[in-house]
Amino acid sequence: MKRILFIIFLLLVSIAEAQLLQNKTTFTKQDTLRGSITPEREWWDLSYYNLNIKVQPDKKYISGYNIIRYKVLKSHDVIQIDLQEPLEIAAFTQDNEQLDYTKIGPAYFVILKKKQVPGAYNELYVQYSGSPKEAVRAPWDGGFSWKKDKNGKHFIATSCQGLGASVWWPNKDHMYDEVDSMRIAIDVPKDLIAVANGRLRDTYDYKYGDYKLYEWYVDNPINNYGVNVNIGDYVNFSEVYEGEKGQLDMDYWVLKDNLDKAKKHFKDAPKMMKAFEHWFGPYPFYEDSFKLVEVPYLGMEHQSSVTYGNQYKKGYLGSDLSRTGWGLKFDFIIIHEAGHEWFANNITYKDAADMWIHEGFTAYSESLFLDYYYGKEAASDYVIGTRANIQNDKPIIGQYDVNNEGSGDMYYKGANMLHTLRQLVEDDDLWRQILRGLNSEFYHQTVTTKQIEDYISTITEKDLSAFFNQYLRDTRIPTLEYSHQKRTLKYRWINIVKNFDMPIKIKIGDDEKWIFPKSEWQTIETSSSKKPITIDRNFYVRSKEY
Ligand SMILES: [Zn+2]
Repeated sequence: MKRILFIIFLLLVSIAEAQLLQNKTTFTKQDTLRGSITPEREWWDLSYYNLNIKVQPDKKYISGYNIIRYKVLKSHDVIQIDLQEPLEIAAFTQDNEQLDYTKIGPAYFVILKKKQVPGAYNELYVQYSGSPKEAVRAPWDGGFSWKKDKNGKHFIATSCQGLGASVWWPNKDHMYDEVDSMRIAIDVPKDLIAVANGRLRDTYDYKYGDYKLYEWYVDNPINNYGVNVNIGDYVNFSEVYEGEKGQLDMDYWVLKDNLDKAKKHFKDAPKMMKAFEHWFGPYPFYEDSFKLVEVPYLGMEHQSSVTYGNQYKKGYLGSDLSRTGWGLKFDFIIIHEAGHEWFANNITYKDAADMWIHEGFTAYSESLFLDYYYGKEAASDYVIGTRANIQNDKPIIGQYDVNNEGSGDMYYKGANMLHTLRQLVEDDDLWRQILRGLNSEFYHQTVTTKQIEDYISTITEKDLSAFFNQYLRDTRIPTLEYSHQKRTLKYRWINIVKNFDMPIKIKIGDDEKWIFPKSEWQTIETSSSKKPITIDRNFYVRSKEY
């Protein structure tokens, strides 16, 4: 019966795909299998990954296994596991019995023999090997980066955001479900060191052969794309940070030749920790420590092992994304990628369509870092400066269930939306309470945009649904249309979604005041029509005198 249901599901997927194609979108069956909570995913809950791989740099080859421990939520006999070609599955095994499977692209549908009893914890042993996809433009395309350092030694890293972790290891490749903990064991040639997430629990020097094992352990929930392996001729230095939750180990792994440079440059890391614990609450992974790990690409928010490749420069590879000068006060990669520990790794989206939850808040964290050290005006200059990067090409929220990210505007339009919201809240203590509250309310959880919206609406006691619809689900910038004649200021919102009625702060001459525009004209009396009207620059809106 379940097999039949499974076949019906595949047919439905095909129909859904055909309908999507009629709507002139280009999503495929594989996008649906990758991006939705399929029936072969929803019946089991991830508990633990035990990933073991041997990396052979000269051959650009990996081999190993992942033991997937899961809790049965309801009985089923097919389980979906993802692994992308050209990697190959050698075997799926449960309780020492080898299992059959069917395959659609990277999705393997494994037919289980053992009865899956609700409440039981079972393990699936997945053996695999091959030459994984090579990243051409990491971290944007993802896969393995097989590089060499200046001394000709191997310098290797994985990255897989968007593409999915199944580009290098077999797993349940959907963000809604996370393991509670994870072991990552890597065999590498003896002259190299492997650094992954969490803490280094053990190393094992094989008596025979040229390989050494590094065993890392993550004692917290972790999302798939956060898992990473970095291999190089590393040296390590560390410090203890006195944080909100006590002593936090901060560890740095850099190429041998960059040690002196890194010791100076990474002073931004404890500064970052101080600012972000202030704004967002305690670092979410004290048990796993915090690490910066040098890699041969720009950087990525890998959980508790933030990867770093910003060439020891301030700004974004030495340039200022805000064009105000403030962006050169900090190393963009240290601040931005570490900001993701709160928004991406602690609070994680369930569906890629909601990726703004990661990027919007984290882009905004850049200005909060400045706020902490240089004050509110500096922070405003920065976030307003980044508006030049906004395209308004398509909505920030993408399409659900097909692993589809929305517009790149999720970064700086997202940040400016939050900055605008801060003006509406008009109480910086409450604003900070909201940012910290999100991190405690959704601690170590996967969430939807709706949950974030509802939380903020509840705490602020404002119905913000039209506000979020405007900035997240539409591309139009709200525009204040006004005229100021005969001591009467007449104004209304245009370019807006239904029910958008955001109040806004303006100045009439030097008098600052709130006005409450709607889609219909409103009027107020002023003392003189000669006084110029200025709109508070902190609101991300446009204006048009008519
Ligand atoms: Zn980011």
